[in-house]
Amino acid sequence: MKRIGAHVSANGGVENAPINAAKIGATAFALFTKNQRQWVAKPLAAENIEAFKRNCTEHDLAPEYILPHDSYLINLGHPEAEKLEKSRAAFLDEIQRCEQLGLQLLNFHPGSHLKQVSESECLATISESINIALEQTKGVTAVIENTAGQGSNLGFRFEHLAEIIDGVEDKTRIGVCIDTCHSFAAGYDLRTAESCESVFSEFEKIVGFGYLRGMHLNDSKKGLGTRVDRHHSLGKGELGLEVFRYIMKDARFDHIPMILETIDDTIWAEEIKLLHSFEA
Ligand SMILES: [Zn+2]
Ligand SMILES: [Zn+2]
Repeated sequence: MKRIGAHVSANGGVENAPINAAKIGATAFALFTKNQRQWVAKPLAAENIEAFKRNCTEHDLAPEYILPHDSYLINLGHPEAEKLEKSRAAFLDEIQRCEQLGLQLLNFHPGSHLKQVSESECLATISESINIALEQTKGVTAVIENTAGQGSNLGFRFEHLAEIIDGVEDKTRIGVCIDTCHSFAAGYDLRTAESCESVFSEFEKIVGFGYLRGMHLNDSKKGLGTRVDRHHSLGKGELGLEVFRYIMKDARFDHIPMILETIDDTIWAEEIKLLHSFEA
């Protein structure tokens, strides 16, 4: 059975996230371990950590199916030294929070060149940022998410992901998460089984399923190749349902967290059921 969940709220404490996941019938989930729009957060308290672990165990949500997402402020490819330092420090803190929670994955957006440096320079900076964070931590895999390529965000081509991985020293602790909305907005057509077949064989060739640690399952409000990141509920956007049917039937997507980041959280339970219905 596929492990499907959503990016649930951790309001009131991280320990509420697994409870919120269980409520919608999720067997995987994502969360922010701190406020995603602020640079600094209070350290996690021992009682919250303990409650988080207890609630995860109680609801059969093992660490390999939990995909925390880092803060949106972090830019690991920042072209300015001081701001890069700030991002690197915040990223390290994010990984350390995962370590404390007994988590194994941290999902993040690679970074932006802000039109100040070349793509490859920025990608090299991102790899170096990852190396620095991995050296100081253990047990957590850095999971690069592909992006829609909005503004100067990198990571919208599979080649970008491969280039970042190439620059990471510890290949056992680097992985990727593919967001269906981002892929589509970036120009990867996923509207039919045939197009899915070709996109995912390209992914296999350039990055490799061996690095796949998670999926974000979202429809897209914007069209193919628009490079605009606007998620939609499954089947209600430009992408349609075929890609989700394809993924649910494909064993290459087994044993990883598959996370909804769709816009209407009141229908997440239904969306999860719908996805499971495609597995048969
Ligand atoms: Zn993301
Ligand atoms: Zn995503």
